[in-house]
Amino acid sequence: MRQKQLGIFLSKLKQFKDPKAWAEQHPTEPDIAAEVLWFAYMNRDLEDKVVADLGAGTGVLGISALLLGAKKVYFLEKDPDAIKILKENLDLLENIETPTHYEIIQADVLSFDVKVDLILENPPFGTKETHADRDFLEKAVRYGDIIYTFHKQETSEFVEKFIIKHGFKATHHFDFAFPLKNTMPHHKKRIQRIKVGCWRIQRINL
Ligand code: SAH
Repeated sequence: MRQKQLGIFLSKLKQFKDPKAWAEQHPTEPDIAAEVLWFAYMNRDLEDKVVADLGAGTGVLGISALLLGAKKVYFLEKDPDAIKILKENLDLLENIETPTHYEIIQADVLSFDVKVDLILENPPFGTKETHADRDFLEKAVRYGDIIYTFHKQETSEFVEKFIIKHGFKATHHFDFAFPLKNTMPHHKKRIQRIKVGCWRIQRINL
């Protein structure tokens, strides 16, 4: 599979039916997920690795990892409606089965406790629930050695300080204009774009 095919496959996945404002359900666009996950694959971060997709939503990040050769993916998500869609999306994959290749954990991120090689997360940006982004980062640096994490660009100072404080270093950074479609009542413009960064970080003493 190449990056383009991955993007096409991801664009066919089912999306959130009714995004929930409290959970900040802003999916990663298929092309953006394909770009980041293809990079991870080329960087040897994926193949045969155990991966966690925290705040998995409809599964775009973890499903990419499975398609690109991850050994196993843990999908952690707290919203049962999102999990229904995630399951439908996982059913589209051939020869990928639970529990050998993936497990779904329906829980709050605060209860995540599985040691993995790689963490993928596009967490709530912490605009609705303060510190939601911090909760995800805390779990990521505790349970992963390599992390790809999406945050609003305007919070980059917080993210970068957090990384250093926890013994990690940022090795790569991607800039995106994330479309936040007007699917929630508090959004005024039809499509609002916000600057989002994706950081690849790794434990310094790895
Ligand atoms: N990873 C998906 C979804 C991103 S949106 C993608 O990239 O498209 C953020 C997701 O985190 C939503 O699905 C939301 O339901 C979930 N979420 C929000 N707060 C959470 C929490 N405290 N614990 C677990 N999941 C949470």
